[in-house]
Amino acid sequence: MKPCNSCQAVIDEYTLDKQLEPLRDLTVDNFNVCAECTTVVSDACVECGGGVYVPRGFSTVPDYCPACRSDLIERTGHDPGWNCDTIST
Ligand SMILES: [Zn+2]
Ligand SMILES: [Zn+2]
Repeated sequence: MKPCNSCQAVIDEYTLDKQLEPLRDLTVDNFNVCAECTTVVSDACVECGGGVYVPRGFSTVPDYCPACRSDLIERTGHDPGWNCDTIST
């Protein structure tokens, strides 16, 4: 059993798995934090309509889920960041 990177609690993989259900591609293996420290917002991804993962310390809800973000990085060769309305100067 792995401890949570954030609060040091033992990660309950069953609970975390339930929490991650709205997300594409991500599983408990991709996380080093427990369900308590994980924020998932359902139906928030602008690309696939799936759930997004809110990184720790992030105050707004991302527009892309991690899977779509890495798709975009692969397609365009650059990282769009978490939000699609990020203004590039
Ligand atoms: Zn935790
Ligand atoms: Zn998505």
